[in-house]
Amino acid sequence: MSENYIKYANYKEMPVHFKPAHEIRRMIDAKEISEAELTKMAVERASSSNGVLNAFLSISGGGAELAGGKNSFWAGIPVALKDNIVTKGIKTTAGSKILENYTPIYDATVVQKLKNAGASIIGKTNMDEFAMGSSTENSAFGVTKNPWDITRVPGGSSGGSAVAVASGSAYMALGSDTGGSIRQPAALCGVCGMKPTYGRVSRYGLIAFASSLDQIGPFTRDALDMAHALDAICGHDPKDSTSSAAPAESFSDFVKKGMDMNGVKIGIPDEYFGEGIEQGVSDRVKEAIGQFEKMGAKIVSVKLPHTKYAIPVYYLIATAEASSNLSRFDGVKYGFRAAEFKNLKDMYMKTRDEGFGAEVKRRIILGTYALSSGYYDAYYKTAQKARTKIKEDFQDAFSRADLILSPVTPAAAFKIGEKTADPLTMYMSDIFTISANLASIPALSIPCGLSGGMPVGLQLSGNYFQEGKMLAAAYEFQKRTDHHLCVAAV
Ligand code: GLN
Repeated sequence: MSENYIKYANYKEMPVHFKPAHEIRRMIDAKEISEAELTKMAVERASSSNGVLNAFLSISGGGAELAGGKNSFWAGIPVALKDNIVTKGIKTTAGSKILENYTPIYDATVVQKLKNAGASIIGKTNMDEFAMGSSTENSAFGVTKNPWDITRVPGGSSGGSAVAVASGSAYMALGSDTGGSIRQPAALCGVCGMKPTYGRVSRYGLIAFASSLDQIGPFTRDALDMAHALDAICGHDPKDSTSSAAPAESFSDFVKKGMDMNGVKIGIPDEYFGEGIEQGVSDRVKEAIGQFEKMGAKIVSVKLPHTKYAIPVYYLIATAEASSNLSRFDGVKYGFRAAEFKNLKDMYMKTRDEGFGAEVKRRIILGTYALSSGYYDAYYKTAQKARTKIKEDFQDAFSRADLILSPVTPAAAFKIGEKTADPLTMYMSDIFTISANLASIPALSIPCGLSGGMPVGLQLSGNYFQEGKMLAAAYEFQKRTDHHLCVAAV
């Protein structure tokens, strides 16, 4: 049997569609390839693979109409967007039937920024409905398949964006991460994904799931591309009051300069290496720790004692916020409305009953319950207090370590359908990713090898606004290893 993946010796050997964007930038500038050719190729790859992979909910013609950014890094480079990021004149469904026919009249700030940079937007990607899920099986528009093995999930909720990059249709894709929805699918599809610090990237135009946790971030082939992507989308936005005015360095310049890993302290949380981790995952992550040690990093043990509360805390806070955010979908303001109803209340009820899928309804009910009078103190308020404890754990850990290293997921990609009957098992798989959202810190996932022929992700997290350090360390790792050169055979 032929392998389900190909490992290249270097970027030069890779076919154009798998090369990193920084290599494509060089080729465009050297006139080895034209922007028009690139977009045509990307659109063709996206269209021809979509029948099997179902990564895209819509595919557009690319950047022909875009005038911006002649001298910018992303000019002419094909990119894709998760379908909960609003795009003027292009349908934006958030993977839900209730928004099936919603065509926004404005662009999200990140979209505006990418257009200004001249990026070629080739399509909108599939996702779990309203970003609720870890497998993209909760989309109203069918499951997205993992290009490494189409009987397996790509992860979620930004599964379509991960697959767009992993299958060579886009050089960069944006996703959203509320509890791991960028890092987890990046890990399961063998690409890089990052959740920036809360506030680093504007969320104006991101369809809200849980507003105190949501962040937009990129998927890319390597850490240098990730730095370029963050350069393009970060910054304060007067339209998003939670966006930060923290000054942003040029992340790509910082990463390109290189980082001396000698003496950099990498913290390993004891709580993240317990039982229940697939052998191949734990082996690959331990090898990565060995690699960092070889590079001169100092490995220190750190404690995150409140990790055991992370899942219940997240699933209380996220559902509470979702129940409030999703109240706007009522059959009046956006597209979908039930065909038959007796009165206004009946219209609201039938519209929401027919428009939302099972997981979204489950979360609205849980969240409404957690917020209801008499239960608020016991659930929501207690969860907020525990969240503070989790934040404090990280501040304590970052007083001992520059970065924290851990697995992204307890196991490689699972089979489609394997966990759909049991939402709790699905929720448990978020154990290593949700704490970063609760603590508002940045975290990324990069490939670190395979387990049973499927990709494994390595998570690096940093303290608030330490994306530069995190990305530079990730790139130093990639300069000395070849895991990111291993791609799905598609
Ligand atoms: N899997 C988590 C959930 O289902 C995280 C989702 C996300 O980050 N959007 O809520």
